[in-house]
Amino acid sequence: MVQHEAIQDLVKKYNENQLSHVFLIETNDKAAALEDIKEFVKVINCNESYMEDCMKCNLCHLIATDQLPSLEIVSPDGQAIKKGQMEELKQKFSSIPYLSRYNTYIINDAEKFNASSANTMLKFIEEPEKNIIGFLITNNRENVISTIKSRCEIVKVMYEKENQNITDRIQELAINYLYKIEVEKQQTIVYNKTILDEKLEREEMVLFFKAIFQIYYDFFQGKSILEKLKPMEQYTQDMLLHRLDLVGKMLERLNYNVNINLLLDAFVLGLEE
Ligand SMILES: [Zn+2]
Repeated sequence: MVQHEAIQDLVKKYNENQLSHVFLIETNDKAAALEDIKEFVKVINCNESYMEDCMKCNLCHLIATDQLPSLEIVSPDGQAIKKGQMEELKQKFSSIPYLSRYNTYIINDAEKFNASSANTMLKFIEEPEKNIIGFLITNNRENVISTIKSRCEIVKVMYEKENQNITDRIQELAINYLYKIEVEKQQTIVYNKTILDEKLEREEMVLFFKAIFQIYYDFFQGKSILEKLKPMEQYTQDMLLHRLDLVGKMLERLNYNVNINLLLDAFVLGLEE
């Protein structure tokens, strides 16, 4: 059964013959999204009329057990998706599938393309053979190389996680946020929108800024272990004090009925002072 309605929508599009050939799936639960995509792959390939637990059907069984030759699931080889992996995929899918209607590839951690694998991928996307459908899965589309992202149909697949550890989620959000605004320093105001998309409640915004405060404080004390934010080790004590002060002000303002959008913009502008 396809669980998430965004993927169910793809089934609808498929039935209406309006399916794109490559999707960027942005999700907060990559494992759940992968399962949903596999169900979708069953739906579009099944020779019987696909049903829940279509186990009588050999094809669906092969998909469920990752044995269908025309379904390739690629994960980063070490820290990155390598050029060789993309070449292999391209080669493999240069012939039409013999068991199923489609050749389908799923790429985990799409933010981990490097320049050369992204290049190979682009050519693959741009000169699609018939009957190829691709899914790229990521936690955060902002981290996906833009040339790839711009060629994908973006589908947001967010799962409500029961009892998901909110602190962990917000911690991760805070790290990614600081990575964007402190390390990449790109279009920071624009990037604020992705935080707004998370639709955090006021109390969660407080947790978010507290997490940011803690991260700066760890750098201030010289004991941060966050590899992703390593360049911040170069910050002077003055820079860090300025940041701690700024976050303190943001937390204060959160006591009042502030507009979150304006608050985030004020934070980013305050950093530049
Ligand atoms: Zn089936």
